[in-house]
Amino acid sequence: MVQNEYRDMCDTYLMRNFSRDILITRGKGARVWDDEDNEYIDCVAGIAVCSTGHCHPKVAEAICRQAQELIHISNLFYIPGQAQLAKRIVEKSGLKGGRVFFSNSGSEAVEAAVKLARVRTGKKRFIAFRSGFHGRTYGALSLTHKEDYRLPFTPLPYECEFVKYGDLEGLKAVMDETVAAVIIEPVQGEAGVIPAPEGFMEDVRKVCNENDALMIVDEVQTGFGRTGTWFAFQHSTAKPDIITMAKGIASGFPMGGIVAREGLEFLPGEHGGTFNGGPLACAAAHATIDVLEEIIGDIERKGARFRDGLAAYNPRQRGLMIGITLGDRCAPVKQYCEEHGVLVNCTSGNLRLVPPLVITDEEIDQAVRVINEALNS
Ligand SMILES: *Cc1c(COP(=O)(O)O)cnc(C)c1O
Repeated sequence: MVQNEYRDMCDTYLMRNFSRDILITRGKGARVWDDEDNEYIDCVAGIAVCSTGHCHPKVAEAICRQAQELIHISNLFYIPGQAQLAKRIVEKSGLKGGRVFFSNSGSEAVEAAVKLARVRTGKKRFIAFRSGFHGRTYGALSLTHKEDYRLPFTPLPYECEFVKYGDLEGLKAVMDETVAAVIIEPVQGEAGVIPAPEGFMEDVRKVCNENDALMIVDEVQTGFGRTGTWFAFQHSTAKPDIITMAKGIASGFPMGGIVAREGLEFLPGEHGGTFNGGPLACAAAHATIDVLEEIIGDIERKGARFRDGLAAYNPRQRGLMIGITLGDRCAPVKQYCEEHGVLVNCTSGNLRLVPPLVITDEEIDQAVRVINEALNS
């Protein structure tokens, strides 16, 4: 646990918007260690970010190698590795003829998607879903349902209506030709791992087509193998117009981006960013994808192992995204797990498990044992 001295220093010099009490100093694979050398199995993975585990040697090596060649140059110049990365991402997305715009975070990816939808459709209205989360910057916040996040910051730039997740009739009721885009998470993450009902992604696609609106799939949390496919929408037959991505893309090196389908892109000067798609981020993402290509076929099996181990508590599971509704019991369960060497996360009254995708069967079994104990106690 973090020493008082360091806690005081944080309280003095940092804004106190985050609450936390463990100081993690190193990590390897699915394990991390705190400042007193206590070991934890990490079922948080930096919030679904450390997809290849902590400090994967291939990722660390790629970052180090690139750091000795070129750290930053800006998009005033071609950037080494950037086009190859875009090609790989477009291919994984299945959007033939699609193009990539890189960002530095999930919110910025959503921001890019919203600006692209706004500028290319000429329309201003958006539809999002209740309990959905799309980020904290103003555009992304306009589409984020949670009032605690949104209301202190009104007025927000975009008009957005929030429909119950999975409610097709509710969606049809607010849709018309004035809607620029509908944004949807294929599995709601911050809401506590809530998968879209069977067929809903296809229904959203159809309603968007009927109203000449774009479909934005927010894969910031679900992308890059998290649910067992490269992107979670690929469990459906729906094809989005825009995909947002970030968290797992570069194993923790800050990066994000969007893929937009053929014919949908920013014109020169319409959007940009100093750091976007920089050499280090691209190197980290290439190495991440290299590792994921080797393990992606095993992710659903590992997720099922988690699900089976926790079956008594009705987990919701898609790949290595697992959620269990606990309400007020979440905080004590989390604390028990931490005291017994497993890091877990509580979100909206749900236990959320999003471990590194390289977690081993032994680590899953150990985590499951501790989580079961916590839930039973
Ligand atoms: C985390 C998240 C975001 C925001 O990403 P940041 O990198 O925190 O800005 C957006 N959408 C979804 C679905 C997320 O899970």
